[in-house]
Parts: sequence; structure tokens; C-alpha cells
Amino acid sequence: MLASLKGKSVIVTGGSKGIGLGISLAFARAGAFVTIAARGEEAGANAVKELALIGGAGQFLQCDVTDWDAVKSTVDETTKQAGLDIICANAGIFPKQSIEEMEPDQWELVQNTNLRSAFYCTKAALPYMKETGQGRIILTSSITGPVTGDPGWSHYAASKAGQLGFMRTAALELAPHNITINAVLPGNVKTEALDDLGDGYLKKMGQMVPLGRLGAPREVASAVLFLASDEASYITGQQIVVDGGQVLPE
Ligand code: NDP
Repeated sequence: MLASLKGKSVIVTGGSKGIGLGISLAFARAGAFVTIAARGEEAGANAVKELALIGGAGQFLQCDVTDWDAVKSTVDETTKQAGLDIICANAGIFPKQSIEEMEPDQWELVQNTNLRSAFYCTKAALPYMKETGQGRIILTSSITGPVTGDPGWSHYAASKAGQLGFMRTAALELAPHNITINAVLPGNVKTEALDDLGDGYLKKMGQMVPLGRLGAPREVASAVLFLASDEASYITGQQIVVDGGQVLPE
């Protein structure tokens, strides 16, 4: 599976931390050239160092995924340097807020970061992928929204469910160009973004999962790499749940 990724060029938004870093490292291990697109320069530089430590090749491009011009120039710069085979729209935020307390701009920020960015990444990559006659787009969605609800995360759930509606329609529009688009739906994955919840709470969260623990970024990355590989060439508009069995009915 990994052999087909050698020499491919991939952009991973939010590739500097957490699940995105796990995805970046997995692509680098498979021999792909990885462009990490995120806002923070220090985390980006550290991520590129991590790629180098495992013998991988890649670069960091500063990019705010809520900004169309920034996404477009990240895609343009990458295609000029290395081509573009795969784009992972992974960057996302999940600040907890009740509907009652939520300000309209908090709602907007989550939609722009999580959902609008999926459209931006797809739109920016499309001309190049059409020209080369192939491409893979992979979205990091979530079980929250597409499968479950979660009090305090209505904005997040709406954005993640929205990603899947976008994906299914994009799959139909892009299929004639041999471009596939799919999504991974992680359950609770141990990343810095969950640190605020505290170790005790995280332990309890893990115990509630049928497999008895939280997921690791590399376990989400495995599903992403499969969707990017030659073995997934006939899969489009689909979703893979990576949640340790969390959403299975009792
Ligand atoms: P982290 O907070 O650990 O990492 C988020 C990454 O996204 C960072 O690299 C961050 O870098 C980047 N990012 C955030 N906002 C922007 C922006 N506006 N423009 C560009 N980059 C941005 O989060 P996780 O790894 O936990 O989450 C990654 C994805 O996985 C998200 O889409 C999330 O919704 C999804 N997910 C996570 C789950 C979990 O349990 N952790 C469960 C289900 C889904 P910087 O801030 O420097 O820009």
C-alpha cells in the first residue's frame, strides 16, 4: 500500500500538530514529499525537523485555512515545487461553547476553519489535479456531527456534518477527472487539543471506548494513507470511522 505513495506530493493542513502531524509523519515514512500548512511558524519548523529525523522530506508553508488567498498560494507554491497528488484538509478547531452562550462570530470562526477550508482546499487543488488527470482529497471530519451529537459542540458538529455533504457532492463533480474525495471520522484522539480536559477526564473518556483507550494520531493516519494509496483507487465519496468502536450501538 505504501509503495504507491513514494515520490507523491501531499499537502496536510494543520500538519504541524496532533492528528495532522501524525498524517505528515506517516506520508513522510512512505516516501512522499510533505507540505505542512498551518499558522504557527515555530510548530511548523518543529514538524519539519521531525520529518527530517525519520529521513522524510517536506516543508512548512504558513497558511491560515480561513483565508482563500493563503490557501491558493500554498497550493500554487507546492505545485510549482513538487507537483500535487494529495491534499488533506485536516486543520480544525473545537472550542467548547453552549448554544446559549455562543456569539455569532464564534460560530463563524468554527465554520470557516473546519468547513469553508474543505471547499478552499478542494477548489485550489482542482485546476492542477484536472490538468494532471488524477488527485486525492481527504477530509478530517469527526464522529461528532456526522454520527453523534455532543453538548457544547453544536458549531463543530454542524461543520463536520457539513464537510460530508460537501464531500458527497464534490465526489460526483470530480469523478470525471479521476479525482477522489473521502473523509476519515476520528473518535477521541489524544492530541494537545484535548490537554485542557485533564488526565483524569481523558482516562475516563478512554475507558468508555470499547477498545478501552483513546486513539493515537498514527491510527487516523493509517486510514488517510489507505485512502491516498493506489489500493483505494475505486473509493470516492465515502467515510471511514476510526473510533475504537465508540459509535457502535450496544
Ligand atoms: P490540534 O489542535 O492538535 O491541531 C490542529 C492543527 O490545525 C494545528 O496544526 C494548527 O496549527 C492547525 N490549525 C488550526 N487552525 C488553523 C487555521 N485557521 N489555519 C491553518 N491551520 C490551522 O488538533 P487535532 O489534531 O486534535 O485535530 C485535527 C483535526 O482532527 C481537526 O479537524 C479536528 O476537528 C479533527 N478531530 C480531532 C479529534 C480529536 O479527538 N483530537 C476527534 C475528531 C476529529 P496552528 O494553530 O499553528 O495554525
